Amino acid sequence: ESLEGQKMVEFRKTLPAYKEKDALLKAISANQVIVVSGETGCGKTTQLPQYILESEIEAGRGAACSIICTQPRRISAISVSERVASERGEQIGESVGYKVRLEGMRGRDTRLLFCTTGVLLRRLLVDRSLKGVTHVVVDEIHERGMNEDFLLIVLKDLLPRRPDLKLILMSATLNADLFSSYFGGAPAMHIPGFTYPVRAHFLEDFLETTGYRLTAYNQIDDYGEEKTWKMQKQAQFKKRKSQISSAVEDSLEAADFKGYNYRTRDSLACWSPDSIGFNLIENVLSHIVKGERPGAVLVFMTGWDDINSLKNQLEAHHLLGDPNKVLLLACHGSMASSEQRLIFDRPPEGIRKIVLATNMAETSITINDVVFVLDCGKAKETSYDALNNTPCLLPSWISKAAARQRRGRAGRVMPGECYHLYPRCVYDAFADYQQPELLRTPLQSLCLQIKSLRLGSISEFLSRALQPPEALSVQNAVEYLKTIGALDDNENLTALGRKLSVLPVEPKLGKMLILGAIFNCLDPIMTVVSGLSVRDPFLMPFDKKDLAESAKSKFSGHDFSDHLTLVRAYSGWKEAERRHAGNEYCWKNFLSAQTLKAMDSMRKQFFCLLKEASLIDNIEGCSNLSHDEHLVRAIICAGLFPGISSVVNKEKSITLKTMEDGQVLLYSSSVNGNVPRIPFPWLVFNEKIKVNSVFLRDSTAVSDSVLLLFGDKIS
Ligand code: ADP
Ligand code: MG
Repeated sequence: ESLEGQKMVEFRKTLPAYKEKDALLKAISANQVIVVSGETGCGKTTQLPQYILESEIEAGRGAACSIICTQPRRISAISVSERVASERGEQIGESVGYKVRLEGMRGRDTRLLFCTTGVLLRRLLVDRSLKGVTHVVVDEIHERGMNEDFLLIVLKDLLPRRPDLKLILMSATLNADLFSSYFGGAPAMHIPGFTYPVRAHFLEDFLETTGYRLTAYNQIDDYGEEKTWKMQKQAQFKKRKSQISSAVEDSLEAADFKGYNYRTRDSLACWSPDSIGFNLIENVLSHIVKGERPGAVLVFMTGWDDINSLKNQLEAHHLLGDPNKVLLLACHGSMASSEQRLIFDRPPEGIRKIVLATNMAETSITINDVVFVLDCGKAKETSYDALNNTPCLLPSWISKAAARQRRGRAGRVMPGECYHLYPRCVYDAFADYQQPELLRTPLQSLCLQIKSLRLGSISEFLSRALQPPEALSVQNAVEYLKTIGALDDNENLTALGRKLSVLPVEPKLGKMLILGAIFNCLDPIMTVVSGLSVRDPFLMPFDKKDLAESAKSKFSGHDFSDHLTLVRAYSGWKEAERRHAGNEYCWKNFLSAQTLKAMDSMRKQFFCLLKEASLIDNIEGCSNLSHDEHLVRAIICAGLFPGISSVVNKEKSITLKTMEDGQVLLYSSSVNGNVPRIPFPWLVFNEKIKVNSVFLRDSTAVSDSVLLLFGDKIS
């Protein structure tokens, strides 16, 4: 065996999970369901499925076994499978493979498959009893993602019908009881981990030891997203505080910070719980960088946008000293895998690695050399206001469990330090655990899936969840599916609903694809749908926002549609690619080449899926595509309906209203956000989000006549 292979074998034996290997395997063979908990990094994800595989091979059942391990995110499914394959000295696609939406690597001999939870749910559509599968490992259940909670209901029903199927649930936190009692008292095993102690510094401690002064000015950052909102005229919107935000405020109100000096107390009085202080982060970083201790720094931010703005600020200010001695990296869901590898690598001697991350680095990704953690205390979390039927995306306070988890990331190689960028009394006001996603998200796709899996009445089925959602959210979702024609009045799947359920996109986007196929203008529609489901390819760097906006507006064609703007930008790129000038084109036009490429591969997959679903009869007809913009606009409208707002042009401004929210606003990145008037009575939009007002994401203007298509459904 190679030296590299030897090293891997040795490494695997050092992981805490290794000591529990026999006990784990014994428990699996003696029980149909077990729950395994263990601190992040102890070897659950990479080791446990391998132990099962190895023991099956040893028992002579290697060829018969089939292990599926689900991951909540595609990026972790891919990176974990690559890691496991390399630990086995194999290429990906031999005994270990992966399958994520629209992409996969597996071979005839693949026995251990890492997939996203969504992929397993989709498989259940065509293979209800998971024929041939011997083990299902559901990972990261502590995250309480919607798909995982959904999968658990389905598996719970399946187990009695498949007595030979083994189910292993894995969690990074110790709330195993909840899952164990859901499965009738399944045994819970814990892998004791080893981490070095991590010292927690709350905000008051940092202020006290460094003498750093917080002023009201420090709270205002030059870049933050807030500026985008302030540039818009704010609607008279009553800010509704969440329970935790009120608890935090009460807690701050009551705190007196006795025992701290007056300077610290003065500073704390200036601290605002409503924004993330970039200047504070910068100063903590500089404190660490100037200190003696080596080690990587992990900064938990809320999302891609504030990671980006913090990165810009750090690069512009030079507060961290010699820029050649600092390696500044970003870690978020939409990064490229090449970027990802840099995060795991140890930096060269004398260079400080600083990783700005979302809560992805909390549990699903382990960066070994981290010694310092900065925790902003927030994560961008979707929530759902069932009463107004409006999804919200707000940075909100994390749970105590998440804060402890973040802190723990600093103690993997030596004793660490964690700077919580908020006072201790704020931590005390956090909830113990995070709310499950099922309770804070719209349920349309989920309800469609319940129907297509023939799981009976939607509300009856969901009432059996670990923590069932509100009746009103279920009702809203069912109403929506009826409005778009996916369900009939008796809540049965229609022919359209059946086709929609095989397309791996939201129902409204699926409907657009189907209409695009029927009306023979699939090409532009596939571009729109891939753009909406990957992410926006238009880059909006905060420091070059004006340039980026004017680059985008060049594609607008003055026809008041972000969607058609996207179609033009994409086809321009395709043409530039043919001339081998794709990258230059992207650079000039503030477009992300990576996103455009992802859209490109998604388009190809859509095409195959639609063909498989017999929605495209002849390929000949499809290569000869219509680009009739009126038709494309009508199809966009038919897909996005009833996501619609009225347009009233006033002397100096435009007033937009939806039935549910009243007045709404446009992001300034929308081509419709910067025009003096919109000569159409309606805008259809694909997403609205409540930040402090309700904002519409990409929109397309439509005329009255197009709306006639929908009869009296709008008044
Ligand atoms: P858990 O699932 O319990 O959080 P993992 O099985 O993901 O733990 O990881 C176990 C250990 O394997 C980690 O502590 C880390 O040392 C190592 N490891 C995992 N993935 C990688 C990777 N992609 N590159 C290098 N080391 C890794
Ligand atoms: Mg894991």
